Order: sequence, then C-alpha cells, then structure tokens
Amino acid sequence: MENTLNLQDITATEDAHTSGAYSKRPLALVRGEGCTVWDADGNAYLDMTSGQGVALLGHAHPAIVQAVSTQAATLITCAEAFYNDRRAELYGILQALLGGEEPWRFFLCNSGAEATEAALKVARLLTNRTRIVATMRGFHGRTLGALGATFNKDYRGPFEGWLPPVTHVPYNDLAAADAALTDEVAALIIEPAQGEGGVHFIDADYLRGLRDLCTERGVLLICDEVQSGLGRCGRWFAFEHAGIVPDIVTMGKGIAGGVPMGLAAWRGELGTIPAATHGSTFGGNPLSCAAAIASLTALRELDAPARSAELGAWFADQLRGLNLPAVREVRAQGLMVGLELRGRVTPILQALQARGILALPAGKTVLRFLPPLIVTQAELQRVVDAVGEVMSAE
Ligand SMILES: *Cc1c(COP(=O)(O)O)cnc(C)c1O
Repeated sequence: MENTLNLQDITATEDAHTSGAYSKRPLALVRGEGCTVWDADGNAYLDMTSGQGVALLGHAHPAIVQAVSTQAATLITCAEAFYNDRRAELYGILQALLGGEEPWRFFLCNSGAEATEAALKVARLLTNRTRIVATMRGFHGRTLGALGATFNKDYRGPFEGWLPPVTHVPYNDLAAADAALTDEVAALIIEPAQGEGGVHFIDADYLRGLRDLCTERGVLLICDEVQSGLGRCGRWFAFEHAGIVPDIVTMGKGIAGGVPMGLAAWRGELGTIPAATHGSTFGGNPLSCAAAIASLTALRELDAPARSAELGAWFADQLRGLNLPAVREVRAQGLMVGLELRGRVTPILQALQARGILALPAGKTVLRFLPPLIVTQAELQRVVDAVGEVMSAE
C-alpha cells in the first residue's frame, strides 16, 4: 500500500489536533506483520508492546484478517435488541474457556474500561450494596467508574468527588482486605497480575484467602484479566494459578485480535441484571464477535498459555542471566515480563528503540515486555542481546 504522509506531516497534523492526553514517542507506525511493525520511513521494529498488550497473535494474523473481511462483507452491525449468529458462537467459545456446568453470563462492550464499568454496575445490581474495594497500584481503566477503582493519583486527582466510593488496600495483604470487606461492600476488584502498576504478581495464597473472605461476606470477587488473560500469564486466566474461580471476570485488550472489544463475565448462578440497567450500541457487534472467535480459536490452536509459560520462563532466565547491575529484579509470569530498574526507564526505552526494539514502561522505573504470544525464541534472544548491550553501556 502506498504511504503518502511522511513522519513530519503525520506528527505535525496529530500534534495540531491531539487532546493532549497522551505523551507520544516520535515514531509513526504504519504497518505490521507478525511481531514486526514498520514506521513511515520504512524502518522495522520488533514489537515487544503488542500495541499495549493487544496483539496477542501479532499483527495482520491471517485468521483475523480473513474473519474481519468476511464479516465486514456479511453484517457489521447488529444491536443486542436482536440475536446474532456470531455473538452466539462467541458465547459458546467463552463458556468453554471459563468452564464449569452453569452457563456464564456475558456483557459485551468495547474496551477494558467499559468492562470494568459493567463489572462494577453488575456487582452493585446483584448485591444491592454500594462500596467497592480495590488495590493499591491497581489499574482498571479511566472512565469515571473505572477510575474510581484505579489507584494512580495522577489519573484520579482532577476527578476526586466524581468517583464512586472505593477503598484501596495494599496488594498481597490479606489482613488489610479482611478489615476492608465490610457488609457494605459489593465487590473486590483485583488484577491477578498487575501490569500497568509495575508488573507485580499475586500470591496464590492471598488470592485463595480473598476468595474465601468474599464468599463468607457476600462480596463479589472481580478478577480484571484485561491485560493478564487469554494466555498472557501462562494460563488462559492468571487467576488459574491460584486454582480459584472469581464471581466476575473482565477481559479486553487482545480478545478480538485488535478490533475493539471488552466484556464482563459472571457466574450464571448469580442471575441476570434488570432490563435497561446497562447497555451499549456497539456491544456484541458481529464484526468484533467474528474477530474474537478467530482470535480465541487461533490462540487455542497455538496452545497460547503453554507457549507463553515456556517462552516466558526462558526469556526471564536469560534476562536474569545477564546479571545487570542496573536491574534490581526481573519479574515474570508467562510473557508478562518486568525489569525493576535502579534508575529511570525512559532512556532505556529510547536506547532499545534506537536498536529497533519497542518496549513499554510500567511506572517510572519498570521496563515492561508484552510480546505477542506468537513471538519466537530467536526474536526474544534479540531482545535479551539488546537489553544486555543497552544496560551495560550505562
Ligand atoms: C488496559 C487495562 C484496562 C483498560 O482498558 P482500556 O481498553 O484501555 O479501557 C483495564 N484493566 C487493565 C488490567 C488493563 O491493563
């Protein structure tokens, strides 16, 4: 495809119109294939960001390209006031992933934040309680409801007073959760692996303890699997490492192979929510559903959880083996990998980019890798070599 705008045209036009909400890197990405993306000047980069955890199957995966183009030519839009074949098919696949005898209930929406919104509203409706407990460093999205559960003060600050009533407790501290889970609490929302908040993983005993406390107190346990789910952390869902089943599970990011989709799933025995208490024009549209069917099917064929567990463990071992003085700790579960640095992450991100590798920060001092789950060992080796060069050059 001919690309007529150069980097200067693109950045000048975007800068003239941008909301200001994003701090941007001076790089215009125009094409992708597999784990590689290309900028407007034709330079190739190894994408260890998956576009913020979205491209679980890499870019331009043939099954997704095929599903989206076929569905676009068949039926793009179909509001939930009507039934639809693709939506029904997707529900079947999701049910098989989540397991159990009871049919899970699903609310389909268009982003991770919307999945959080749905989960919080469902919890309120099903329990008739008003408070939420969330965790420090937790990230659940930036719409007003979801922002209430998100911890970062930089995100929340200007909106205090507009946010729902949420108590934030320290992560992996069961006594603190015990004290916070009063009989006014509708739900506890938690990421079984904190991505945005710095790549921190949950203690299995803590999550099992939360499960028991929630059951005992009539509090719904919401696991936010928007980033950690669908194979990223070496299981279909990161909560599986603790052998528990949450009451509500949220998903987003890679679920539809890059087409916008989010969802909240809840255990069938909790029942349905009253008509008209929630809704979304685009929710459950056949285009996103077809993309999600293709994406989940391809992830299953790839045996994505096992692949992620194996490659992630190898990658983390190689990174630890570098013995870099600039790295305090390497934390990894599957292909969610974080390096806690002694200094700031920004210069490291820039140096990696100069070597053709795109990575993410998670806070100011954590270098985060979220490679596509189709990544090869050879591609990860390139990253290990570059990290070694960049950090020993410090
Ligand atoms: C990205 C993310 C969200 C928000 O998703 P958006 O699609 O950006 O609204 C929510 N929860 C977690 C854990 C995330 O990583």
